[in-house]
Amino acid sequence: MGKPTGFMEYRRRTVPYRDEQERLGDYAEIYTPAEEDRLQRQGARCMDCGVPFCQSDTGCPVDNLIPEWNHLVYQGRWQEALKRLHKTNNFPEFTGRVCPAPCEGACVLGINNPAVTIKNIENAIIDRGFAEGWVKAQVPDKRSGKKVAVVGSGPAGLAAAEQLNHVGHSVTVYEREDRIGGLLMYGIPNMKLDKGVVDRRVNLMREAGVEFATGTDIGKDISVEQLQSDFDAVLFATGATTPRDLPVPGRDLNGIHFAMDFLTAHTRSLLDSELQDGNYISAKDKKVVVIGGGDTGTDCIATSLRHGCVSMINFELLPQPPEKRADDNPWPEWPLILRTDYGHEESIKKFGCDPRTYAIVTKEFIDDGEGNVRGVKTVLVDWTRDDDGRMQMKEVEGSEQVYEADLVLLAMGFTGPELYVADPVNLELDARGNYKAAYGDYATSVPGIFAAGDCRRGQSLVVWGINEGRGAARAIDTYLTGDSLLPAPMMTLGTATG
Ligand SMILES: Cc1cc2nc3c(=O)[nH]c(=O)nc-3n(C[C@H](O)[C@H](O)[C@H](O)COP(=O)(O)OP(=O)(O)OC[C@H]3O[C@@H](n4cnc5c(N)ncnc54)[C@H](O)[C@@H]3O)c2cc1C
Ligand code: SF4
Repeated sequence: MGKPTGFMEYRRRTVPYRDEQERLGDYAEIYTPAEEDRLQRQGARCMDCGVPFCQSDTGCPVDNLIPEWNHLVYQGRWQEALKRLHKTNNFPEFTGRVCPAPCEGACVLGINNPAVTIKNIENAIIDRGFAEGWVKAQVPDKRSGKKVAVVGSGPAGLAAAEQLNHVGHSVTVYEREDRIGGLLMYGIPNMKLDKGVVDRRVNLMREAGVEFATGTDIGKDISVEQLQSDFDAVLFATGATTPRDLPVPGRDLNGIHFAMDFLTAHTRSLLDSELQDGNYISAKDKKVVVIGGGDTGTDCIATSLRHGCVSMINFELLPQPPEKRADDNPWPEWPLILRTDYGHEESIKKFGCDPRTYAIVTKEFIDDGEGNVRGVKTVLVDWTRDDDGRMQMKEVEGSEQVYEADLVLLAMGFTGPELYVADPVNLELDARGNYKAAYGDYATSVPGIFAAGDCRRGQSLVVWGINEGRGAARAIDTYLTGDSLLPAPMMTLGTATG
């Protein structure tokens, strides 16, 4: 274990973000460089518990060997820590930056003390690994002669591609966008995940032998049937890309956009021309209303602030979460508590108040008389539980209000994958409209076609994408060769059906 008395000697100290005022002036990452001794002290706080809940089923979805690398970091053995980290996680530089860190919610120290800063340590290990030149392309010793097509280049597709390439299969990743990375590239903004960090990993995979085809829409440019005949197996990792709409009066007015249209165009323009080409939806001088919380809502807030919006309001349908865990949300569950994320902090700094309004429903978008949105009509709601414990919502009489807005961003989540890829091969869907494939098995109803990530489980997290990509790679390897030595997350192995 780190240091037997470390958890009593040192307090939790996270790696701070850059000052809000400074970071609002650019699109660079929000993080400050990690100080080695701060992280070593955090490693020293790890108690190496008999049952490390941080890496168990309520903790890290990829089973990162957290107490092992905490100990190694405490001892200054960074290269060994990196080896341990890469055993379970293909892309710690992504999770170290953007993961909400369920591991920290499950940290045993968190029962009566703030948790170890696990995510900061993970990020520092991999950043050090790149800085020292320890992270190298994993070129396989020999090729199996088998070919796999991966459709979609988000974390699920990339993790599967790297694992399959590692055991010698020839992998081609097809991506309809002009850049590789899925939501890591076009979704999560540069402030949270620098796109050079994504490209760096993709280039290593290319060097290791993975082929990438961008601008290739499977189901449109190449048929799925063609992939079936050209490859020995196909993995769908197409994400949950159908946005949830808000069909209220006025929805068709100008100035109302899906969050992803806003975020994608912004990042593409930033990367292509430092926003000089003007090919994005600008929030400059706009009164912005973001409908929907979560990561997507926060990213819309942060991006709009940097464009130069003049006001910011964020609607959340659910009630405000408590400051501390509620009695029915005990450790080691994920704590459902109020979190003030980077975009909220920045909005508070710029406008002097928290942009979030809770328990609010949009009734109508108001026209300025020329077809543009000029306001959002809302009503507050009361949330109660019915006899079965289900949350019920009731409008509060007389609480109608109109918020001024000339840019509205819809960030209410996603309903599932687009179906033009699955339909031509009659791929079965589950009750929620996702591609039907059992967790741990990943085989769809069409022999030789597998599915992993958000297109299978519904909208989720980067770390779950990596979990599913790794599990699907093992399932595909088994399908192709009859067996597999590829590791897969314990949860996957525990639920495998074939
Ligand atoms: C704005 C936003 C912010 C987020 N922030 C976070 C965060 O901070 N932390 C976190 O853990 N998670 C975050 N998430 C969630 C996370 O990004 C996703 O859960 C994760 O990326 C899903 O991975 P995936 O590989 O399944 O799919 P995706 O990342 O969605 O990738 C799917 C890819 O498939 C491609 N594709 C689809 N159909 C085709 C086709 N027919 N042919 C070729 N290519 C195709 C798409 O273009 C896309 O690139 C965020 C999501 C959003 C939308
Ligand atoms: S991937 Fe996420 S859950 Fe796992 S150790 Fe890293 S921050 Fe924690």
